[in-house]
Amino acid sequence: MVQASESESRKLLVALRDAMAEDSAGQARLNKIVKLTARSMGSEVCSIYLFRDTDTLELCATEGLNAIAVHQTRLRRGEGLVGRVARFNQTINTANAPASKGFRYMPETGEEIYSSFLGVPIQRLGESLGVLVVQSKATREFSADEIYALEVVAMVLAEMTELGAFVGDGDALSARHQKPISFEGLSAQEGVAEGAVYLHEPRVVVTNPIADDPDIEQNRLEGALDRLRVSVDQMLSDVRSGDSEQLEVLEAYRMFANSKGWRRRMEEDIQRGLSAEAAVEKEQSTARSRIGQSNDPYLRERLHDIDDLSNRLLRLLTGQGDDTGAEISNNPILVARNIGPAELLDYGRNLRGIVLEEGSVGSHAAIVARALAIPLVIHAKGILTEALNGDIILVDGDQGSVHLRPDEGVLKAVQDKIAMQRQAVDRYTKLRKKPAQAKCGSIIKLLMNAGLMADLPSLQSSGAEGVGLFRTELQFLTQNQMPKRGELVTQYARVINAAKRRGVTFRTLDIGSDKVLPYMAPQEEPNPAMGWRAIRVGLDKPGILRMQLQALLRATAGQELSVMFPFVAQYGEFHGAKAELHRAITRETKLGHELPSNIKVGAMLETPSLAFAPDQFFEEVDFLSIGGNDLKQFFFAADRENERVRRRYDTLNTSFLNFLEQIVERARASNTELSYCGEDAGRPIDAICFAALGIKTLSMRPASIAPVKHLIRRVNLQDVKMVINQSRDEGHESVRSSVLNWVKNNA
Ligand code: PEP
Ligand code: MG
Repeated sequence: MVQASESESRKLLVALRDAMAEDSAGQARLNKIVKLTARSMGSEVCSIYLFRDTDTLELCATEGLNAIAVHQTRLRRGEGLVGRVARFNQTINTANAPASKGFRYMPETGEEIYSSFLGVPIQRLGESLGVLVVQSKATREFSADEIYALEVVAMVLAEMTELGAFVGDGDALSARHQKPISFEGLSAQEGVAEGAVYLHEPRVVVTNPIADDPDIEQNRLEGALDRLRVSVDQMLSDVRSGDSEQLEVLEAYRMFANSKGWRRRMEEDIQRGLSAEAAVEKEQSTARSRIGQSNDPYLRERLHDIDDLSNRLLRLLTGQGDDTGAEISNNPILVARNIGPAELLDYGRNLRGIVLEEGSVGSHAAIVARALAIPLVIHAKGILTEALNGDIILVDGDQGSVHLRPDEGVLKAVQDKIAMQRQAVDRYTKLRKKPAQAKCGSIIKLLMNAGLMADLPSLQSSGAEGVGLFRTELQFLTQNQMPKRGELVTQYARVINAAKRRGVTFRTLDIGSDKVLPYMAPQEEPNPAMGWRAIRVGLDKPGILRMQLQALLRATAGQELSVMFPFVAQYGEFHGAKAELHRAITRETKLGHELPSNIKVGAMLETPSLAFAPDQFFEEVDFLSIGGNDLKQFFFAADRENERVRRRYDTLNTSFLNFLEQIVERARASNTELSYCGEDAGRPIDAICFAALGIKTLSMRPASIAPVKHLIRRVNLQDVKMVINQSRDEGHESVRSSVLNWVKNNA
């Protein structure tokens, strides 16, 4: 047996590189690799298995097994020793393969005469690409040195596979990243889009996995590590002292960047013939496959740190920055692990769609995507390892699915869907200037929800009569530090100017729950949606509320101010918030500032309790806006962010409609303006039902205005009310199907 020493390893890698450099086809290259590896390792057999699809491994080249088995022998992930190596991304080393757990005999290979078996995963960043195996007749376990040597070869193979070095005959050899692949994720913003992949953080491509001179690589690694440590220290000193969470993360980074074990392992890889960047990636892959199996959330979070530091190191070594020079096409679809709201705003409306591996429906990025009306699919697991810049990609935000490099059939189907949606948009454009007047003569006021300056142009294009809900917290969420009062005045004044005298109803900060400001210490609460949020924070810590009210008074000086408080659960909270407003008015008057010409003060009705508030509350409040997203979650006790339950209870559920009717009645009795601004107001069937129940103002996403108007104009609301009543009388849980059927036949 030849010793798998460091110098032997290096020689093998150099021979492999030379073999790769020859102008030969994928199969010929693989044949050379198995021959060279078997010789260098002193083993009778060396074989390469690659995945031909996500679940099937195929023997693609062998030295020592029957040649006839090549491209014939296939194993499922987890089947036999080879399948187990791939499934668990872990090496198997055994002196007696047939006696080992999971062994499966493949007669066509002729492997029965080989007793010892060493299989190592061919993996890149924890993703299994195949298995590299050596086998011998002698009954012995392979040494730690030999295992290491084979792992280094597998690493090089993984890089070469990634670079498409084995493109050739047979499915398992054709380049990855060429086949169509679909992902089932979750919808976070509806809409369908076709475009080209634009990776938010492109992967660093290691083009030189094998190096000639370990000393040079060693120096490169040391230089890059030094620079990495300096940049982590710099980040640490940049963090403002109060931000303990960020400090904690960076301290963990610093510890890792100084880790002797990490450095030693990379140095050993380099001594075996890997380049510095290949060594970094090998350790990153090993950490991924080790930690990736763990269910411990703390460890998984650390994996994120390791990935981030390794990527920084790779960028330092290769000189590839975030910007790899990839051009943004004119139809970019952003693909990322996760993204912050500020980064998303930088891309702005240029994006056709967004696909995230992680993310959540309630994340800030999702809120921004919704505000920009960009289709968003989250939880598209594995897309980052598959997608390359420029790949054709289809995002179906209605279904929550993504198709990468789609085949003709899928492409055609989605293009048809996009064309139909465009036709509908064209049809709707004609409606823009027409009123939302139902056949019975009732006029419904359609307003839009907004939260960013970027939303305001939609006021014109959608045909909305004004902004019914301006979520002020979005501006706070997208900044890294608390905005100053002057900045707020400017921002609100810009919003009002852009609205060109159409009214804007500002909602004061609704933070807490899922909306955590980056510069405020997060509260550990068992149930944040029912916790310290919105007006509760505003009343307990009135600093920000006061600043906001003052800014609103100044921004609307001389014009009408319409302001409402979020999440008011009882009369006293409204009273308290209104008292803050009056204090702000007194202060402004004392300072000699001009006041708004008129001030309307409203409350959001988001908790059932407010519907039962004393008459005095209804007398005092100028207007009420039903925040159906929250109201529904508390009415049905079903978390709006929990995918398991959030669609379980229909908005047109009879109980909910009965409740809404009571609210309408109380508002009517006290002559209080009433609107509905939850997401459901933007669904045409729901909208006509709300209107039929007597809610005459609806506020929704701009994209929903036209479809809602279109349906309102085709129905008689008294008829809709009759259908609702009849369905309720018949004891239906929800009136939806009755109304839908009626609309199909009558509208
Ligand atoms: C609501 O709860 O319906 C609402 C409009 O407010 P948000 O979605 O911002 O909580
Ligand atoms: Mg709400």
